[in-house]
Amino acid sequence: MQSTVGQPADVVARLRATFRTGRTKPLAWRTEQLRGLRAMLTEHGQEFAAALREDLGKPEREAFRTEIDFTVREIDHTLERLEGWLRPEPAEVPEHLGSATAWTVQDPLGVVLVIAPWNYPAQLLLAPVVGALAAGNCVVAKPSEMAPATSRVVAEFLPRYLDSDAVAVVEGAIPETTALLEQHFDHIFYTGNGAVGRIVLRAAAEHLTPVALELGGKSPAFVDRDTDPATVAARLVSAKFLNAGQTCVAPDYVITDPGTARALEEALAKAVLEKFGADPAVSPDYGRIVNERHFDRLTGLLDSGRTVVGGEHDRANRYIAPTVLAGVSPDSPVMAEEIFGPLLPIVEVEGLDEAIAFINDRPKPLALYAFTESSATRDRLTAETSSGALGFGLPVAHLTVSDLPFGGVGESGMGRYHGRYSLETFSHRKAVLHKPLS
Ligand code: NAD
Repeated sequence: MQSTVGQPADVVARLRATFRTGRTKPLAWRTEQLRGLRAMLTEHGQEFAAALREDLGKPEREAFRTEIDFTVREIDHTLERLEGWLRPEPAEVPEHLGSATAWTVQDPLGVVLVIAPWNYPAQLLLAPVVGALAAGNCVVAKPSEMAPATSRVVAEFLPRYLDSDAVAVVEGAIPETTALLEQHFDHIFYTGNGAVGRIVLRAAAEHLTPVALELGGKSPAFVDRDTDPATVAARLVSAKFLNAGQTCVAPDYVITDPGTARALEEALAKAVLEKFGADPAVSPDYGRIVNERHFDRLTGLLDSGRTVVGGEHDRANRYIAPTVLAGVSPDSPVMAEEIFGPLLPIVEVEGLDEAIAFINDRPKPLALYAFTESSATRDRLTAETSSGALGFGLPVAHLTVSDLPFGGVGESGMGRYHGRYSLETFSHRKAVLHKPLS
């Protein structure tokens, strides 16, 4: 077991003893931890960026923008508002209770577990930790073994900057995570795939532990007739090929009418060329596939349609070019599961009605995107579909808004976080009533 701190049962017992002292509850402790986390990221940003390059070939600018600075912004947002969020909230009292008053306070839950995936291995571990600490909890952080360099950096630095009796990093793979899941936690926050999500939920049931499951799925991008292909293509390309397509909220596929599809094909090819150059393999702005298993899975999907741009791949470097596939059948392999890689299929439907039916026939996505100038279309999509989030005109961006809840629905997950929603997730809102005795 590659733990920095001992066996799971001992780790949890040590953290629980800390929690019982009450020292994690005051605002001062919480803000001190958040400042510590911030200092770790600003003082060791380069080490984190180097680890992210090693794990995912992540371009340095992208590593700062989507992981390191992203988490710093989340910390700053929380630090600025935490005191206000923690104020007791008054409740309206019915007349029959006379002079009674009532309010709610937010109690920390206790010892919480955060399990992170490999695709944004720093952000998706640390952003939930921000919420857990802001709420006054002790935390066990479990980085992904599939991003080993980032896991090592987290394990090395986190305990140096945070209260090490209250925060522990446990590294490891399935056996270590399984051993952790046998422990009694007061909350489990899991980000990753739905199969493991089910394992987490089952383990949590044993202890009646509440969970948040941040899962994935196929996030559609509907493109309306009235849109400018160049603008749509540029925004789709930026969002889809970020982190070589290994983003939970990446547009998974485009759904549009045949005429718009033709115009988009050309525009997408141009946008790929503009963003990554004639040979994306040498672009400093383009990442790599996490491992050979995912590389093989993805290259197996390349025959699912007509290649508009891309298709080149190189196993030795885990490189797959940004690829657009046209004329893709809904029954083709690329449409069976979340792609989680740099392949963008275009599926054709007659129009909005058929697009809505197509979306509603499938599991609820983590995000639904639409490009349209029509407010009636935006209203219909809002009212007639269900997804974790709805993004008009700019895919992926909603997750950078700390004041918006981030999370899925149905197959794409349960629970939400970021900003004040993280505080709610990692707290119990306790009802208090006071009736004066005289
Ligand atoms: P992963 O393989 O790194 O697994 C996630 C975590 O689960 C890891 O820490 C791993 O150690 C642990 N784990 C794996 N197998 C386990 C088992 N049998 N028992 C207990 N723990 C186990 O990451 P992944 O699942 O490949 O991540 C990709 C998926 O995550 C995609 O579906 C993606 O859409 C989703 N995702 C969702 C979000 C979100 O915020 N909603 C963000 C990123 C990724």
